[in-house]
Amino acid sequence: MALTGIQIFKLLPKTNCKECGVPTCLAFAMNLASGKAELDACPYVSDEAREQLAAASAPPIRPVSIGKGVRKAVTGGETVMYRHEKTFYNPTLFAGIITSDTAEADVDVKVAAWNALQYERVGLNLRPELVALKDVNGDKVAFASLAKNIAEKSEFNLILMSEDPDVIAAAVETAGFKRPLLYAATDATADALGKIALDNDLPLAIKSDSIDGIIALTEKLTGMGLKDLVIDTGSRDIKQALEDQVALRRSALKDTNRAVGFPTITFPCEMASNSDMETLVASMFVAKYGGIVVLSDLSTEVIFPLLLERLNIFTDPQRPMTVTEGIFEIGNPDENSPVLVTTNFALTYFIVSGEIEASKVGAYLLIKDSEGLSVLTAWAAGKFGGDDVGMFVKKSGIMDKVKHTELIIPGYAAAIAGDVEEELPGWTITVGPREAAHLAGFLKAR
Ligand code: SF4
Repeated sequence: MALTGIQIFKLLPKTNCKECGVPTCLAFAMNLASGKAELDACPYVSDEAREQLAAASAPPIRPVSIGKGVRKAVTGGETVMYRHEKTFYNPTLFAGIITSDTAEADVDVKVAAWNALQYERVGLNLRPELVALKDVNGDKVAFASLAKNIAEKSEFNLILMSEDPDVIAAAVETAGFKRPLLYAATDATADALGKIALDNDLPLAIKSDSIDGIIALTEKLTGMGLKDLVIDTGSRDIKQALEDQVALRRSALKDTNRAVGFPTITFPCEMASNSDMETLVASMFVAKYGGIVVLSDLSTEVIFPLLLERLNIFTDPQRPMTVTEGIFEIGNPDENSPVLVTTNFALTYFIVSGEIEASKVGAYLLIKDSEGLSVLTAWAAGKFGGDDVGMFVKKSGIMDKVKHTELIIPGYAAAIAGDVEEELPGWTITVGPREAAHLAGFLKAR
């Protein structure tokens, strides 16, 4: 359970040395309690106090990582029921299923196709993260070989799915180096799979049809020393599965029930009869607490909308989405191509860049950091003033890319034209349309 400021204060050195940046230990304790400070800012906390504070400040849902290195994927770690309360931290992970009776060559083709499902949005690379290899015939040699193949040749992290611990053990031998998630320990297999997970330091999913069963399994496995668990509530009925997700999240957060404080794995692939329905069910789990969503196949029409939904759900609602400041080249521009400038609010960027693309006129789009505000708001807030814009254009490096000296500013920022001109002597400042929808016509007509 989270500690109060006073409880934290009792664990601090109480010397008021100010090295943490605030005048007193009490002020630091209050900041720590409200999440405005990090414990590491105080160099004098004893190891014992550090341990107590770390345990008390651990998120109610444990973050669990699958995979290693730069592609490591983390699920869980959530602290709120609703994203507007704070934010959701670790985006739902998407997995596609491959069955163990698939020929190795077909697996290569499938994984290569899935690997190409990557999309660029607001400077982020959106992509699915996991392949769920499902044992369908108990052939542990074939299962282990496919697991090795996927682990070695692809960037995907793995979920190893089998009801037989021997099959899982064989695949851990060949693909354990990639830190796969093992799926799933039940009452019957908890001992065997728990041992494999413990010996190899791997995350383990558990499966039970009842909350009591889940609690019994997590308590048993944490008692064995396992920490990284993932929960499958077993239900494949849509309504029940949703209720399970909400009940687990609520119990972990509101009742601080550590026995259910783990991320979940969900299976829309087993809950729908067609791809459209499966995508809808998956989208429900993105919004409502699914830690991992397993799909029967990955294709653009399924994964792209889900990735966009995930991007929106897992952004901090208290911070506007932004794009990196800089020059964006749209449609192979050359030295005579028009130069436009706008703010770094992500939506503004998407709309403006989309309209430029639609115009088929190659152009340079300069994105100026405006702290994520749209044009009119940024101008009103003094974040998109003429001087600033002029200075930014000078420093941006655009003058090395074009021969002309014309800058197109947004119609809503027409008032800054004079100041930009002063800052950029010799340049022509053209006021563009107010609405991005008119941008394509404006560019084509020039
Ligand atoms: Fe107190 Fe530590 Fe801050 Fe010093 S650095 S004032 S001991 S909390």
